[in-house]
Amino acid sequence: MKKTIYLFGVLVSLWAFTACNKGDKKADTGTAAVSDKDKEIDAKVEALLAKMTLEEKAGQMTQVNLNKVLYTGNGGGYDNNYGIIDPALLDTAVVRYKVGSILNAINRAYSQDQWISIITQIQDRAATTPNKIPVLYGIDAIHGVTFTLNSTLFPHNIGSAASWNPAVSASCAEVTALEARACGLRWNFDPVLDLGRNPLWPRFPETFGEDPLLGERMGISAIKAYEGAGLDKTNAVASCMKHFIGYSASRSGRDRTPSFIPEIELREYYLPQFQAAVKAGASTIMINSGEINGVPVHASKYLLTNVLRDELGFKGVVVTDWEDINRLHERHNICSSIKEAVKVSIEAGVDMSMTPHDYKFTKAVIELVNEGSLSIERVNESVRRILRLKFAVGLFENPVVEKAALQNFGKPEYAAKALDAARQTITLLKNDNNTLPLKKTLKIVVAGPNANNVPSLHGCWSYTWQGADATATLNKAGDKPFIPGFDFAKDSVLPLFPASTLSIKQALEAKIGAAKVVCQSVSDYEDPKNYSLPSVAGADAIVLCLGENSYAESPGSIRDLTLDARQIALAQAAIKTGKPVILVLVEGRPRVISSFVDGVPAVIDAYWPASQGANAIADVLFGDYNPGGKLPFSYPRHTGDFVMYDHKWTEENIEGTPGNFSDAGYQPQWPFGHGLSYTTFEYSNFTVSADTLVGDAKLKVSVTVKNTGAVDGDEVVQLYSRDVFASVVPSLKRLRAFERVSIKAGESKTVTFEISKDDLSFVKEDQAAHTFTRVTEDGEFKLMIGGSSNFELEAPEFPWTSFLYRTYKGAKSVYYKAK
Ligand code: BGC
Repeated sequence: MKKTIYLFGVLVSLWAFTACNKGDKKADTGTAAVSDKDKEIDAKVEALLAKMTLEEKAGQMTQVNLNKVLYTGNGGGYDNNYGIIDPALLDTAVVRYKVGSILNAINRAYSQDQWISIITQIQDRAATTPNKIPVLYGIDAIHGVTFTLNSTLFPHNIGSAASWNPAVSASCAEVTALEARACGLRWNFDPVLDLGRNPLWPRFPETFGEDPLLGERMGISAIKAYEGAGLDKTNAVASCMKHFIGYSASRSGRDRTPSFIPEIELREYYLPQFQAAVKAGASTIMINSGEINGVPVHASKYLLTNVLRDELGFKGVVVTDWEDINRLHERHNICSSIKEAVKVSIEAGVDMSMTPHDYKFTKAVIELVNEGSLSIERVNESVRRILRLKFAVGLFENPVVEKAALQNFGKPEYAAKALDAARQTITLLKNDNNTLPLKKTLKIVVAGPNANNVPSLHGCWSYTWQGADATATLNKAGDKPFIPGFDFAKDSVLPLFPASTLSIKQALEAKIGAAKVVCQSVSDYEDPKNYSLPSVAGADAIVLCLGENSYAESPGSIRDLTLDARQIALAQAAIKTGKPVILVLVEGRPRVISSFVDGVPAVIDAYWPASQGANAIADVLFGDYNPGGKLPFSYPRHTGDFVMYDHKWTEENIEGTPGNFSDAGYQPQWPFGHGLSYTTFEYSNFTVSADTLVGDAKLKVSVTVKNTGAVDGDEVVQLYSRDVFASVVPSLKRLRAFERVSIKAGESKTVTFEISKDDLSFVKEDQAAHTFTRVTEDGEFKLMIGGSSNFELEAPEFPWTSFLYRTYKGAKSVYYKAK
């Protein structure tokens, strides 16, 4: 098992930036020597920089939204654009303001051909400028190429994490890179490395869940898949780890609201993934729009320069998030003008501003340098990084779609990969009396708002930003004069999802025959038919498809985690029929279902499984695929309960009368790491290669897992550790290693993990010096291994006054000694 070694305070690595050495050993270890290709690029960058005017440099640091260069019809706005470029607006962006980058499309999805045409027009115009610097196009292809008709969409990160298989996030990234590049897009704002520790946060579905190790392994695997081939190759895109740092820890749970994170926690939970991503060679990074401890991250020189550049050794491009420099003035109120905000953020460490609707940033950079309040050297540093990236992705050689890339779009094997990914994510949470899998001869009633709705299987960033619209309406009154040659009568309503994408109802009909499926659900999520049952007479079971519709970012903010009342009422009505109810959850985050879940014998969570989600759900329900997903978060039972699996003992216990404790703190509906299968697994031969780990030696931890059931299945073997006594209050358990293994019925497999002292380490603060180091202290560690984080206690009745006795069944003690 490969593990990242976290060593804070150590200057990590020379730069592993360019394409050529990604994925090779040097890039892997983060100690890349400067290759010939790097040197060649550096020479080109310097030669170009020497010829550039200040205006061109300020332009390179500017990124605007596509709408800035499109016909916008009467009054503009996001909806009424047709992907038709307005030459005058393009001139303003590319010739007058010399912008270096353009992004996204917001509420529209374009065909591959339209993208190619949009990008070609932009690059053709850029080619007429004095230094012919191509524009770098960026997009939020976070689970497949969004904003692009007929692209292949994969499960969101929260589902991908439930696969506990880094190959799943790699396969999503591979297909995304191919399809993006086939459209001429070479920069992807992905992966999201935020930790999902509060499901109220509307971007929870974009995270890999609550555990930093799981998140890191999934995220790094995506970065390697995006960039590993070399950025100049037609199967690669530049990745963008985001949102640096602490974005998801907002105190209110709302999007873009303040976080308060003690630095010891920031470093223990929120920094390791970014550190590993830098080492893995991520080319760019996007900044958290919020503030931490009162300082907006876009204005934090400490985080953007001292930590990110000096400590982590990041050499790539730092891009702001949406409008975030303006917001230092307009929302955060820490700068009295936008011009001051530009100075503060550039001096903090920003290279490129996603402005995205105006050129105030560009003008401010020019003014600040001219009046001597921002140094040209600092501007040059950022421009160098941006130009290096443009050279690395091959834009100077060919700024438009490469011939060899063209064919890499919509191939059947991409759909097959999306199906495999969706299957691997699905988590069987409950299966009393082996209710599942269902027999294909059964007649079923299918109900609920998620039963016949395609967008809700996809979630955010699915063809459009919110992902909730099945169509885009193009024909707005008053647009006609602006759009020569557009056939309004024919083209005014555009289906956004491919006709081949099935709803759950359709996939179930395809699986067992339409005659055996009774369903009245319709695609309009709010339609009353979705909240009542059709007649269940003659039905053998009810498949209830509940959860959430799609949402992205702030519009997805909620005040209550409880499932919508209409859905709860529907579930109660279904239970009342006396038929077995199979609950299929389609949701970006866990919604509380404790009021009715005891009446439901079987539950699967499909998260937001996207293009092939309905097929994967049908496969699981009818036993054509044996589910092996495990929860990447603690599924809450109560709305006010956000205790994670890695809590401390003091978070788990409630002291009734002094000295009398009850075990009430961690009471999730289902614990982190939980997930069932249609088979059963037996663990044996848990062995540790030594009972003492000394210094830099490694321990081998093995276990044999036997598939004791009648069908083949996947099990995720999870290794946790507990530091028994430590100078910083330890968690009761922390995930240290995991592996998903496929085991045939009746077979056994031995899984071996390698553990070093770094795997047992934690961040410690020297409070007087205000410095942080990662340490492993001498002493006893408990190791626990199993198929979930839910280990049975050895002696739960033992007096609670001493947590020392609170040991887990089967745990093994290992001692660490530095020498
Ligand atoms: C989001 C980013 C995204 C950017 C560009 C922002 O609102 O926070 O994740 O990359 O928009 O679409």
